[in-house]
Amino acid sequence: MSENCVVIQAALPLECEYLVGLLANVRQEIRGGWVFWRGEYEGVDLIVSKTRMGLSNAAAATAIAIERYQPRAIINQGTSGGHDPELNVFDIVLGVQTVNCGMVKTPSVAAGGGSNSLTWVEAFDMLPDDESDPEPIRQRYYPADAELLAAARALRANYTHGKVVEGTIASADCWNNELDRIAFLRQHYGSSVEEMEAASVAQIAQQYGVPMLAIRVVSNNITNGGAYNPDTGKACQDFVLQVAKRYLQA
Ligand code: SAH
Repeated sequence: MSENCVVIQAALPLECEYLVGLLANVRQEIRGGWVFWRGEYEGVDLIVSKTRMGLSNAAAATAIAIERYQPRAIINQGTSGGHDPELNVFDIVLGVQTVNCGMVKTPSVAAGGGSNSLTWVEAFDMLPDDESDPEPIRQRYYPADAELLAAARALRANYTHGKVVEGTIASADCWNNELDRIAFLRQHYGSSVEEMEAASVAQIAQQYGVPMLAIRVVSNNITNGGAYNPDTGKACQDFVLQVAKRYLQA
């Protein structure tokens, strides 16, 4: 496969089917439980990858894609839940950074002392420089690739369904519906939205040295009553497609 291609990832069919439908000369390839579609869009080579949900699925799909296609970059995209009450359903967040908000070390509490996730402030750094330290207590943020981010910024005004903002995307194998927990995450991590894949993709891409950006549309936001809308998935794909094209043609 040409190195001048971008992998566009999505966890769910509703986050990738529209893109697959736009590809010319499309070929489907399956590796394990992961489906990839190779094709062309207006002169650029794209690979659409359905990662399925969650951190492990996203990590595996990322490693397979990098090993198999040697892409120039990866865009992880799809739906997300708002942490910022200023964000409405259909707004898009460009992930200036991603963070795994489920990687925590809890405080010690004796039997009968209960459990309070609002006290979970310590994290293990999963990629410490010093691997001899068995307890690298440090919160790791994965920065977005500057060139991908620049391509996305340049297209901001083209998005008509809502606003495009920059922020921190928090990932975990968790769907938070506790408003106090969401407020805590926003305060502790500075998160704009939550979802279940981006930080895992960033973690793998960083270890391969492959540029990566997460772009997430707000599909639900319980901090301001924003009801879940699956149509956001298509709006996000439309925007991401333009970002990938601009990046590859630069
Ligand atoms: N409600 C959806 C199912 C979404 S499942 C439906 O009925 O189709 C979770 C997937 O959506 C994950 O891949 C995750 O990245 C994304 N997601 C969207 N909103 C989320 C939220 N509030 N919290 C966590 N993940 C969310």
